[in-house]
Amino acid sequence: MTTTTAAPVVAHTRAELEAAREGLASRDVAVVMTMGALHEGHARLIRAARQRHAHVVVTIFLNPLQFGPKEDLSRYPRTFEDDMAICTAAGVDVVFAPTPDVVYPDGDPGVRVSAGPLGEVLEGASRPGHFDGVLTVVGKLLHLTAARSAYFGQKDAQQLLLIRRMVRDLDFPVEVVSVPTVREEDGLAMSSRNTYLTETDREVALCLSRALRAGAEAAVFGPSAVRRAAREVLVEEPLALVDYLVLVHPDTLADVPEWYRGQALLAVAARIGTTRLIDNTPLVVGPGGGALEVFSDVPHAPGGGAR
Ligand code: AMP
Repeated sequence: MTTTTAAPVVAHTRAELEAAREGLASRDVAVVMTMGALHEGHARLIRAARQRHAHVVVTIFLNPLQFGPKEDLSRYPRTFEDDMAICTAAGVDVVFAPTPDVVYPDGDPGVRVSAGPLGEVLEGASRPGHFDGVLTVVGKLLHLTAARSAYFGQKDAQQLLLIRRMVRDLDFPVEVVSVPTVREEDGLAMSSRNTYLTETDREVALCLSRALRAGAEAAVFGPSAVRRAAREVLVEEPLALVDYLVLVHPDTLADVPEWYRGQALLAVAARIGTTRLIDNTPLVVGPGGGALEVFSDVPHAPGGGAR
């Protein structure tokens, strides 16, 4: 493996992206798609891509199509200089940072990818049209970057599932690779939106990962034990306004019945202060069950949900 220490080539237009791709020594390209405000979670995706591919393209694009009219598009953090430093350190070859008029030259695209029923539950229930917007831009960026592989975070589990479905259902010639959620030491899932949190909000936000961990620790006892353990942590935190807490099948996103044993997804969304946060853990329900991801290296506070 070669180590790139030079700053990535920055492309803002389609022509610049094309030229940058032509300049790469090999067609073995992986893409990591982001909305900027990069953090260690993004860096982990980039490093995972770098390990397996000759070249990595990172896209930085705040996609207006996936934001609702009342959502945080205008206040979303923009930190391009810092993003470039992270990309340079992680060995990115090309950064594609287009403006909306480059991605959507004719304005609002008349044709969009439809996420279908899986896009209408959980995040889709709170954010109508969100996943159509996500899949439309992911499809476009896959075409524009001509990547062989695309790396996405488990942090956005429903998005990951829908991208896998789109690639399979619409025969995109790309491999989708997922990367486990990267967390702060105390368990908080890294997110660009964490910068909105006040000090108090941040303390409150820890209830999400604590709830997931408590749920996962009850996994051997079955679905209702998982849900109960997670809910017990959340009700202790009145400042977290829970949108949903679900234990669902990882492929269908349907609630798993009480007799269910096997892989499942425990997912939560909550508003904390002015910020809506999501988190999840894949787990196995039943004998020998538990979380399929690590929450943190910090020992679990005694008493399950205790702070
Ligand atoms: P975003 O910039 O939030 O759209 O995220 C870009 C990509 O990074 C998506 O595939 C996310 O799932 C992934 N990602 C965001 N946060 C994390 C995290 N804490 N751990 C792993 N991947 C993440």
